[in-house]
Amino acid sequence: MTAVVIRGGLVVGESSSSRADVLIDNGRLVEVATSVSAPSGAYNIDAQGCWVGPGFVDLHAHLREPGSEAAETVESGARAGALGGYSAIVAMPNTEPPLDTPALVAYVLERGARTPLDVAVAGAITQGRRGELLAPMAEMAALGVRIFTDDGTGVQDPAVMRRALTYAKPLGVRLAQHCEDERLAAGGSMNEGALSSRLGLVGRPALAEELMVLRDLELVRLTGGPMHFLHLSTARSVGLVAAARREGLPVSCEVAPHHFTLDEGAVATFDPIFKVHPPLRTPKDVAALRAALRSGEVDAVATDHAPHAPEQKDLPFDEAPPGMLGLEHAAALTYEALGAREASPELLFSVMSRGPARVAQLRAGDYRVRHGAHGGPMRAGDDANVVVFDPEARWTASRHSLASRASNTPYDGRAMLGRVRALVVRGELVVIVGTLA
Ligand SMILES: [Zn+2]
Repeated sequence: MTAVVIRGGLVVGESSSSRADVLIDNGRLVEVATSVSAPSGAYNIDAQGCWVGPGFVDLHAHLREPGSEAAETVESGARAGALGGYSAIVAMPNTEPPLDTPALVAYVLERGARTPLDVAVAGAITQGRRGELLAPMAEMAALGVRIFTDDGTGVQDPAVMRRALTYAKPLGVRLAQHCEDERLAAGGSMNEGALSSRLGLVGRPALAEELMVLRDLELVRLTGGPMHFLHLSTARSVGLVAAARREGLPVSCEVAPHHFTLDEGAVATFDPIFKVHPPLRTPKDVAALRAALRSGEVDAVATDHAPHAPEQKDLPFDEAPPGMLGLEHAAALTYEALGAREASPELLFSVMSRGPARVAQLRAGDYRVRHGAHGGPMRAGDDANVVVFDPEARWTASRHSLASRASNTPYDGRAMLGRVRALVVRGELVVIVGTLA
């Protein structure tokens, strides 16, 4: 294994940052100091002006394998993740068939082991994601699964969710809920409001999300089981979860870049690229999500990376499947939302790496099957999962230059500020100068 030296960057710790060199050898951070002497043959990365921190961790990637390999595979999704600066991604279980047995979980873990990243797997809460009978969570947990979710839809039946939370607590795993009441959201393809009426589209009300957030907070209070709230999209939802956390409930939450970057106005184009569940909300909600991010009330930015093959996505708005790509653009969009040049580097790495690593239990000392530790403090001895982010790099997103198999990005042609310059996973260089090694 070739040693790597990352020179002259701002090394981002948990509460402070300082300019230093980072020497990586044998899969570990060997030295973090103002000037390190490199072993001969070491690969040098110039990180002047860059932020150097723990590799990003995505809690929410739909890798589509098994079942929809035309849209994405574990391998292509991992390459997209690498370009986005992720050293670990959590594969969501709403595949075909869903990941609701140890054998299916093992299959995706095995595919992930062949990629340069650490691919963790979320298991389904219920058999077939039908929301009725619990899946064998203990057996999947024994393989290292730490997050369970029926994402794509939420668990609708409160009695089932109560049982799952009760079961999850002693297993040491966390449930992740897609909060939308299916009956209230039924038939809707965009946010419900004046704009949906004007466009003649059926809306999905904010209340469909908020009612389930309220319900599940009460179920967490009742059972003590830990819950992660996926892709919160309204001002009220993030406020409710933040208040519950202050109260001491075992809850965490994520927001997705599209929800803090785009608003429902984009739907006026009727371009199905802007269709997503929960839907893009009002400018007021977008502003509230950005404020929550900046105030540290959000544990993680998660992509909800949802690839679709073109022939499946290019349909009339109300018929198209929901979802958009996220892995390759999330870091720049988060940096922008945190204030770009005003952004705190510690906060960027908190929501992109350390927070999600904590939620997914991927940090040093957490239970793991084969992963190295992620979201570390950037000290000597850490496993070498490191990203070099250039906050000054200007570039243009393009749907034609993605590692993902799909191209359903809503950011095609958008000017971006901030880009991944290099990524080291398990001590190996995976991305150099913004391209895959
Ligand atoms: Zn979802």
